[in-house]
Amino acid sequence: MSTCSQVRRITSVDEAVAIVREAAGSSSSMGRRGLTARGLGRSYGDPAQNSGGLTLDVTGLDKIISVDATGDADPVGGEPTVDLQAGVSLDTLMKVLLPFGLWIPVLPGTRQVTIGGAIGADVHGKNHHTQGSFGNHVRSLDLLTADGEIHHLTPGGDESDLFWATVGGMGLTGLVLRATVAVQRAETAYFTVDTDRVGGIDDLMTQMTARDADYTYSVAWFDAVTSGDRMGRAVLTLGNKATVDELPRTLRRQPLAFTAPSFGTVPPVFPNGMVNALTARAFSEFWYRKAPAHRVGEIQNITQFFHPLDIAQDWNRVYGPAGFLQYQFVVPFGAEDTFRQTLEVITSSGHYSCLNVLKRFGEANPAPLSFPTPGWTLTADFPIKPGLDALCRRLDELVLSVGGRLYLAKDSRMTAADLRQMYPRLDEFRAVRERVDPRGLFTSDQARRLEL
Ligand SMILES: Cc1cc2nc3c(=O)[nH]c(=O)nc-3n(C[C@H](O)[C@H](O)[C@H](O)COP(=O)(O)OP(=O)(O)OC[C@H]3O[C@@H](n4cnc5c(N)ncnc54)[C@H](O)[C@@H]3O)c2cc1C
Repeated sequence: MSTCSQVRRITSVDEAVAIVREAAGSSSSMGRRGLTARGLGRSYGDPAQNSGGLTLDVTGLDKIISVDATGDADPVGGEPTVDLQAGVSLDTLMKVLLPFGLWIPVLPGTRQVTIGGAIGADVHGKNHHTQGSFGNHVRSLDLLTADGEIHHLTPGGDESDLFWATVGGMGLTGLVLRATVAVQRAETAYFTVDTDRVGGIDDLMTQMTARDADYTYSVAWFDAVTSGDRMGRAVLTLGNKATVDELPRTLRRQPLAFTAPSFGTVPPVFPNGMVNALTARAFSEFWYRKAPAHRVGEIQNITQFFHPLDIAQDWNRVYGPAGFLQYQFVVPFGAEDTFRQTLEVITSSGHYSCLNVLKRFGEANPAPLSFPTPGWTLTADFPIKPGLDALCRRLDELVLSVGGRLYLAKDSRMTAADLRQMYPRLDEFRAVRERVDPRGLFTSDQARRLEL
């Protein structure tokens, strides 16, 4: 969905302060439509867009200020930390940290995400059940609020409510300028991975429940096209960080080396409708069959294990000009029957999603708008075509019926009424926002749609 906005790239803290003060004092349309922070724009819907207003591109705040590899600077857990500006991408950070033997504790499905975006959406990875989400690892952050002041916030400090409202707060409490993030020690840039093909959704959920605790990382691709007994057949991938001893001799010489392979950029030549019943069935069959039935201890590199989509830039073009909608929800543990029903609805809908991911979330953190909450989270990519909204509405109803929720970072169509039901701590968030930004200077197309 495209909107029209004035974009200003911020390259210094002083510049950010000046822009916020100017916008706060302005009664022009720019002032009235407010400000939206934008990182690398990898959220799927409209949270980083501001139609008719000002969009602040934060990627110019790109300095890594210091790395403490000893853990001496971390009063909380004695962990290594990195102090950096909010526009640094996880891709850059990972490449800087690896030679120190350090590793980012939470990585989403792409590294092309800024620190500000990772905090704003409180992103999660395949290890939520063991490491929580990104906000769990933020030791402090500097937030520029609508009055032009900078607040230094910590998770347990005087303004801890503002800290946690900012984590997962989709940029609506102010502009994150800088953060200190706890990172982890790593011997290698590789993972030991066990892979299993699983015949159907019930077996998949049973296996994930039984096995997740033995692995740091766990995720399943599943088939959302095939119906009947094989509905939800899946490839379950479980992994841990590899030690040097676990690497083959050839990799031991440079265990922390990282090279990002690239197939280049996907050209804009694909028509709408490339992902259809025929291609989706063929892809799902291929993806399932190409995985080993049972393999233990395979060594995989970062791109293989985490970010296969980062290999091809603009991979989303295969959906054609109409594009696709990513739908992600979480339903609580105990709602397995409803989860199964969502899959039945999808497989019988005439809408075809090839990239379907199932993960189990662990404990939630204290952030009122953070998405992860204990339960099953499903992600599906549907090509846009007539009838998709009706399918999504049916899925919304099922999700709502068991107290589940949709992810704001993937949202472009939720209603304000649904949001209220899905996020029961919304009023807590609103109270903090009202205190620091009574006029709603920080806003977005999503915030207006959801009456946030
Ligand atoms: C291929 C792909 C895979 C993905 N996989 C996952 C996944 O596994 N898990 C997951 O959680 N997410 C995933 N995402 C979503 C992505 O991680 C989030 O949307 C993330 O917020 C994007 O970061 P960004 O820098 O692009 O931020 P944007 O998309 O530019 O912004 C996201 C939100 O953060 C706010 N924001 C950005 N910068 C700042 C700042 N400096 N201060 C205050 N607010 C700010 C924006 O206003 C907006 O509300 C995936 C996205 C893609 C494209």
